Amino acid sequence: MDAASLPDDLQKAVAFHGHLCPGLVIGYRAAKAAAAALGVGQSEDEELVALVENNSCSVDAFQALLSTTFGKGNLKWLDFGKQAFTLMDRGRGRAVRVVFVGDGLKRPGPDGGTDREAFMQALLAAPADQVVRVEPVDAPPPPEARIEPSLICACCGEGVQASRTVTTYSGETYCLPCAQREAV
Ligand SMILES: [Zn+2]
Ligand SMILES: [Zn+2]
Repeated sequence: MDAASLPDDLQKAVAFHGHLCPGLVIGYRAAKAAAAALGVGQSEDEELVALVENNSCSVDAFQALLSTTFGKGNLKWLDFGKQAFTLMDRGRGRAVRVVFVGDGLKRPGPDGGTDREAFMQALLAAPADQVVRVEPVDAPPPPEARIEPSLICACCGEGVQASRTVTTYSGETYCLPCAQREAV
C-alpha cells in the first residue's frame, strides 16, 4: 500500500508506530469511531482517557491520533488480550467501548495466512459498522495523574516517586528494587 495515498491522520499514526500494519489500521478505525461517537478530537491534556484491552500495534493509533498516551497517564492498559478500547471524555462524563468485529474482512493469502495488504485495504474501505461495534458504557474517569514528590532511596541514592517507596524497620526510605534485593 502506497503510504502517500493514505489519509493524513493515518500517515501520522504510521510515523509514530514505525510501520503500516493491519493492527495499526484496526486501531485507526477504532480510534476514529470512538472519537466520532463522542464528538471529540485530540486530547491536549487529560480530558480524554483510553482504556485499551491489549498491548499490540492498534494501541499506537490511539496514542498518535487522540493523544491518549502512556506518558500522560491517560492511556491505561487492561491485559485482556482483546481488540477492544474504551474512550472516556472526562469533561462530559461520557464513554464508549469500541470492539473490533472485522475478522470477516480477512482474505487468505498465497501462503495460507492472511493477505495483509488486502486486509488493510478492506479495513480502510469498509463502513465503520463492519469494522467495529460501538457500545455506550458507564465508566467513571479515573483520577487525574498525580504529581508526586520524589524521595531519595537511602540505599542506591536515586530519586523515586513517593508512592513507590518502602519504609524500612529502621525508618529509612528504600526504592522497590533495593527493598527487594536487601529484603528489608
Ligand atoms: Zn504494527
Ligand atoms: Zn534504591
